[in-house]
Amino acid sequence: MTYDELKKLDSEYYMKTFGTRLPVVFTGGSGAVLTDEGGKEYIDFLAGIAVNCLGYSDAGFEAALKNQMNTGVIHTCNYFYNEPQTRLAQLLCEKTGCDRVFFGNSGAEANECALKLAKKYAYGKGKNSSRFVALRKSFHGRTLLTLSATGQEKFHEPFRPTAYDFTYIDANDMNAAKSAVTADKCGVILEVIQGESGVLPLREEFVSLIRALCTEADVPLIIDEVQTGMGRTGRLLAQEHYGIRADIITLAKALGNGLPIGACLASGSFADAFGPGDHGSTFGGNPLACAAGLYVTEKIDGQMLSHVGNMGAYFQSQLELLMEKHPEIIVDVRGKGLLLGAELSEKADAHAVQRTLLKDGFVIGTAGVNTLRFAPPYIITQKQIDLLIETLDRLFQ
Ligand SMILES: *Cc1c(COP(=O)(O)O)cnc(C)c1O
Repeated sequence: MTYDELKKLDSEYYMKTFGTRLPVVFTGGSGAVLTDEGGKEYIDFLAGIAVNCLGYSDAGFEAALKNQMNTGVIHTCNYFYNEPQTRLAQLLCEKTGCDRVFFGNSGAEANECALKLAKKYAYGKGKNSSRFVALRKSFHGRTLLTLSATGQEKFHEPFRPTAYDFTYIDANDMNAAKSAVTADKCGVILEVIQGESGVLPLREEFVSLIRALCTEADVPLIIDEVQTGMGRTGRLLAQEHYGIRADIITLAKALGNGLPIGACLASGSFADAFGPGDHGSTFGGNPLACAAGLYVTEKIDGQMLSHVGNMGAYFQSQLELLMEKHPEIIVDVRGKGLLLGAELSEKADAHAVQRTLLKDGFVIGTAGVNTLRFAPPYIITQKQIDLLIETLDRLFQ
């Protein structure tokens, strides 16, 4: 079907959540390059919003999925053990230093699980509280509870009352953290780099302070690594750049390289807070999604991480040079590894730049306030980065 045919049917049958979508339909892909219905190629700097970390047509990934398909078993349900689930749980714990995992199907479900686990831990301690601390400008998902954790009014308005009781504080506000993170809370949830709000990294002293306050209050620190995790920033977890470890960590986007899977990881006594019957998921941890996760988790080794770190540093330096050349258009460059943002002045519109680049054969994202978001597959090359920078340079003349 062509773009126009799809657009017409979608407007008739799909809920109106996405409005009119970008004017391309991708029908193929190889490496970091996507192809549309007419055979035109696009270098992908979005990766399905930080999901397709290995790019397209990765032979090992396809073989891992086919091997699982060939067993004939895509799903068993959690009455039964399944090997990919158990092996992925073990590998993630070994690589992150966490003690236990629960698998769901999305980032929102991973965060839902994390908040529920924190609530259960508080309940186990005899604490009668349903209060959490979250940051303004955060994004944690679209379910009612994760929407409530999301510190942005625009998401709450039609859906009040929000679930539970969230105290929102500004990122990097040390005094607000000191008064909010107290023993009467069930937990604190934050992203160390706020992705959806425009790739906004938290300051190190703020994250360290929250870590210390959580420990003191025996309240779990939940770090949402749904976008930043699985190597995106050049480390397996973005929190490693901060030299701290959360009690509960959530993963999703890159974990399945496109297969839907989310994970909630926990350490110490938090890992033991759920007992039989407390949580579950029909699809969560199914063999096919876990085979995908297992392949990705094995693939993200030291070599892959250093490639992400090197390409990220190069990309960021090129964006900074571009900002020096066009200071009236680019006002800030932020991020870590291959999660980068370039904030534009009022002289340019991020969505318009995104559309123009699409015509020129580049897929990029936008985020927050007038910010271009770049989250390419980890296999992106210096040459491909150069092509994007040259095109942006021409566009900003
Ligand atoms: C994308 C995202 C989510 C939500 O993930 P879904 O899979 O869309 O539910 C949650 N937290 C962060 C930080 C995200 O970037």
